[in-house]
Amino acid sequence: MSRFGISVLIVCLLLSAGAKAIEAPSAVAPGEAFLLRVPGRAKEACLLKHCFPLVSLGPEARGFVAVPYGASPGRAVLEVHFASGKRARVGLNIIPKTFPEEHLKLPPKMVTFDKKTLARIKRERARLLEALKPVTREEPYLGPFVRPVEGRLSSPFGLRRILNGQPRSPHMGVDFAAPEGTPVVAFGDGQVVLTGDFYLSGRTVVINHGLGLYSIYCHLKEIVVTEGDKVRRGQRIGLVGRTGRVTGPHLHFGVSLTGLRVDPLSLITLRPFSVRKETSHGTEGL
Ligand SMILES: [Zn+2]
Repeated sequence: MSRFGISVLIVCLLLSAGAKAIEAPSAVAPGEAFLLRVPGRAKEACLLKHCFPLVSLGPEARGFVAVPYGASPGRAVLEVHFASGKRARVGLNIIPKTFPEEHLKLPPKMVTFDKKTLARIKRERARLLEALKPVTREEPYLGPFVRPVEGRLSSPFGLRRILNGQPRSPHMGVDFAAPEGTPVVAFGDGQVVLTGDFYLSGRTVVINHGLGLYSIYCHLKEIVVTEGDKVRRGQRIGLVGRTGRVTGPHLHFGVSLTGLRVDPLSLITLRPFSVRKETSHGTEGL
C-alpha cells in the first residue's frame, strides 16, 4: 500500500450533532480510489466537483471515492452529504505523482485509421461509455478485490504515451502480460453488463459492481460469461488473448468509478481500515 502513497489515517471532525469520525486515507495520489466509511446516514461524498454515491450499512455509510487522474497536488476538501441535509467536510492531501512516459515509433498506417474504421471506433466507444453510466445501489460490492489474472504487470496506469512524437491519451488501465489462454477472473462480485468484440479492445467484458464501480477486461481470446450473468469474485470470465489492436497477448484491465478511470491496483491493494477508538471528544486513529 505504501508504494501508492496511501497511509490510512482517521480524520477527526466535529459535526453539529456531536463528535463523529469519518475514515478516509490522509493522502491519496491522482488516479487512486479508496473506500470511505462515514458514521450516520450519508448519501454521497464529493471531491473536486465530482460526487460519489454512498450506501448505508447499519450505523454507517460506505462507498468508493477517487481522485481524478488530472488532479493537482495539494489540499482538497471532501464534502459528505447526509440524508438529513447536513454536510461535513474533511481535508484530504493529494500527493504529487509523476506518471512515466513511453515513446513509441510505429509505421503511420498502424496509428491512423480510415473513415469507416474511425466511425466504428467512435460507435464502440459510445457503447462502452453508455454501459459505464448507471449507478446501481442493489447489492453493491465493497471488496476485497483480486488481481484478474496471474502475470507480470507490463504497463502501469497513467503511462503517458508519445506515439511518433505526438502525445496520445494516457494509459487508463493496467496491462498484465500472460500467455494466451491464461484464465481471467472477475476482480469482485458483480453483474456482466457488456460483452462484445471491439476494434481496439478486442473481446471485452464489463462488470458492474454497484455504486458506479465497473471493471473492464480487454483483448480476451474467449469470453465464458454472457450479459446479465451474476459473477463472484475469482470466477472465470474468459481467457487471455490478443484480440483487438495489440502487439502480443495480455490483459488490459480497467476500472471506472462514476465515469472516472482509476488505477485498478489502488482497489486490489485496498486494506481494511483500522478499528476506531472512541475518545471523550471524538475519535482517534490507531
Ligand atoms: Zn492496456
